[in-house]
Amino acid sequence: MEYKALYEMGVNQLKEAGIEEASLDARLLLEDICGTTRNDLLAHGDKQVGRKQYERYVSQIEKRKQHIPLQHILGYQEFMGLKFKATPKALIPRQDTETLVEEAMRCLNDGMRILDLCTGSGCILLSLLNYSNSCQGVGSDLSEEALETARENAKNLSLSAEFIQSDLFEKIEGKYEMIVSNPPYIPSGEIPKLMEEVRDHDPIMALDGGEDGLYFYREIVKTADRYLYPGGRLFFEIGCEQGPAVRELMEKAGYRGVTICQDLSGLDRVVSG
Ligand code: GLN
Repeated sequence: MEYKALYEMGVNQLKEAGIEEASLDARLLLEDICGTTRNDLLAHGDKQVGRKQYERYVSQIEKRKQHIPLQHILGYQEFMGLKFKATPKALIPRQDTETLVEEAMRCLNDGMRILDLCTGSGCILLSLLNYSNSCQGVGSDLSEEALETARENAKNLSLSAEFIQSDLFEKIEGKYEMIVSNPPYIPSGEIPKLMEEVRDHDPIMALDGGEDGLYFYREIVKTADRYLYPGGRLFFEIGCEQGPAVRELMEKAGYRGVTICQDLSGLDRVVSG
């Protein structure tokens, strides 16, 4: 079958199954299988695709029709220009979270010690380590499964970080110049309303932020100062409606210079202080 015809078949099937980004997903699956680029679709659409690749594509389109996230089918997600493994064991890295990394990077100096709470796939910590010099990183998570993914990501990217199974600060020692966290922040009652791709495939424990979604912010804000050097900074990713509440939590606890930053969609996404 021709490359372009295969692409169109995928788009139509995904559209029928109600997949929002049908064209993008069909193209990315085809490119991944055939080792091609967007240019091939535009300029070499008449290229013949081999039988094995055809079969693989059909089976992956079938999976995507079942609303399995594209990243779980591909097995990876790009984040901050780096390739991270995507598995059901840890939250798939989100583009919104790049805002947190970019904000933290503005305050990052060589040799700093960084702690990442609720590290999941490790994408925040590992990106910070990749784009800095001689920083030391510790990532913690309650989920041993998520940490397996984080350790694998570190290995694949040739970065060294320590990943510790810990309930927030429970097993954390020492002090840090920077603490970062993208904790679970969806209010429990809203989980059933999430997109199927998220609700049924990302770990619920990476999403559920308790009744009002703020449980982890309260817990972390309460304790973080014991683990921060004087002048150290705490960075949170937040849900877009949680900015004022998290700022208030931090200010009441005595944090100074608390600011809210927006993501590329202009929504509140990061609070730091
Ligand atoms: N941003 C995630 C989502 O899209 C939520 C991540 C979190 O709870 N930290 O659902």
